[in-house]
Amino acid sequence: MLTLFLLTVVISCQPRTQPEPEPKQYSVPAEVEPYVQRFRDETQRRGQKPVTDNLIVAFGGTKGSDACGQCLLEMGKTPRITLSTDAYCWKNASENERECLVLHELGHCLLNRGHRTNRFANGAYVSLMNPNDRAVYATCAYPIGNDVCDRRPRRDYYLDELIVPATPAPVWGR
Ligand SMILES: [Zn+2]
Repeated sequence: MLTLFLLTVVISCQPRTQPEPEPKQYSVPAEVEPYVQRFRDETQRRGQKPVTDNLIVAFGGTKGSDACGQCLLEMGKTPRITLSTDAYCWKNASENERECLVLHELGHCLLNRGHRTNRFANGAYVSLMNPNDRAVYATCAYPIGNDVCDRRPRRDYYLDELIVPATPAPVWGR
């Protein structure tokens, strides 16, 4: 009798079914939408079509970190990106810095990419998915090390790598 009872307890602890997935939702602030649209265009141009119509982007506090953005991915729930309200992160950021930030977070939330921290010989990060530099193809405020300051020509490479991580190193990174 005791055995049967324990067995019942164990069984009842297992969830009977997967939790119902949340219905699709789409909520992106108007000033962020152009960057999400670029993500659609650039992925499509590279032969990919990630799901982009189930997404929440909101400005707010990024909990427990000083990051400018955060992606929350939970099973069965709409991917949620929080962009920091810090002026450095958005209001005072350049066009390319904003794009880098949004594409980085979309890399987490819609392409399931984690961080990639390795660097090229010149010190530049190999990936837009690095956790420290949100300006890999922007114009910098101050040159760092022996790297160039205007890195906008590198955009194509970083978008290629975002979508196809096995993209070979570009000439400027060898
Ligand atoms: Zn990240």
